[in-house]
Amino acid sequence: MNKLFSDRISDVPQSFIREILKVAVDPNIISFAGGLPNRDLFPVAALKKATNDVFDSAGKDILQYSNTEGYLPLREYIAARYKKHEGLDIDPADILITSGSQQGLDLLGKTLLNEGDDVIIEEPGYLGAIQAFSVYKSKFNPVPVGSQGLDVSAFEETLSKVDAKLFYAVPNFQNPSGVSYPEQNRHDVAAALAKSATLIIEDNPYGDLRFSGKQATSFKALIPEQTVLLGSFSKTVVPAFRLGWIVAPKALMEKLVIAKQASDLHTNYFSQRVLFEFLSQNDLDAHVANIIKVYGEQKNAMERAIKKYFPAEVTCTEPEGGMFLWATLPEGMDARALFDVAIEEKVAFVPGAPFYVSKTATNTLRLNFSSVDPATIEEGIKRLGRVIQSQLPY
Ligand code: PMP
Repeated sequence: MNKLFSDRISDVPQSFIREILKVAVDPNIISFAGGLPNRDLFPVAALKKATNDVFDSAGKDILQYSNTEGYLPLREYIAARYKKHEGLDIDPADILITSGSQQGLDLLGKTLLNEGDDVIIEEPGYLGAIQAFSVYKSKFNPVPVGSQGLDVSAFEETLSKVDAKLFYAVPNFQNPSGVSYPEQNRHDVAAALAKSATLIIEDNPYGDLRFSGKQATSFKALIPEQTVLLGSFSKTVVPAFRLGWIVAPKALMEKLVIAKQASDLHTNYFSQRVLFEFLSQNDLDAHVANIIKVYGEQKNAMERAIKKYFPAEVTCTEPEGGMFLWATLPEGMDARALFDVAIEEKVAFVPGAPFYVSKTATNTLRLNFSSVDPATIEEGIKRLGRVIQSQLPY
């Protein structure tokens, strides 16, 4: 069978995270390895009602094929939300509804990337983007990202060295590190981009989930012609509907629509209609406020436990939102080796290596706080603190 596979798929790295999640299913393991929204916050009753109501009012319509761009009232809702929350004027015609923002990444790869094309990516960066662009055999150019945002001088140097078609960024509560780009950093990154022809893909699935600090200006506001914005309902409503979107300049949108038709004709129309009914009947901001309250408490519980139980040599990011926190172990420690010991002690996390395109071993790890309650977080971090202490190189 192997000789039948395309080079395209043969070269894509296997998702190591899937292997980890398999290990972490043992119910006695406290897992910070997942990347899932908290299922206890899914609006089950309201979605059930919306489903029944939309069946009653439009039973035949919602089961038919539909247009590629997506249900217009849903696109109008998204545009209105951008206006209300960020003051952005987005034409609903510039929005394409996708099967999750993950499909947005695939369609952008399909539309923009030839084999060997240069892509600039944050390091550490979102694994799903590394996977999506790898399918199109792009060449990755990593630029470090950390608590101060993107390393602007490394970014400028990369822009001057390679003719990158795109720069992929998660400027709010990044997956995996939880960091956000500070305001000035965004202006500096936008100024560097403006001198190039490189597009920025601003992936923002977590932007609504802010529990402290102040929202900074989006790249779509700073450099609109060069920005492709990705959004998602996965973290604010439910991931199972697989509903996300791309906001793109018109010329690119024309090509994205062709790419989307070739992939799946259109995004699941039934889930678009149910979601729109849900959004019409409920206040999304109130629902999101509830999510933020819970995630904020869980993040605080994790930070408190880290202060109490981690050796002082371990440093951690301080996310203002989202679902992840990132820890850096003392130099020379390998988070992958630590993982094996941690599993024996019944606690799991994701070692940092898969989030890097330039290294295979690292002293960093990702901790998810969205799906574990505060008491369990305390116990899990206590276990992990003990494991780290036992493995310190001195
Ligand atoms: N981008 C980032 C940064 C993510 O963390 C995720 C989800 N893990 C996605 C995109 C994909 O989300 P979805 O396809 O569910 O919208």
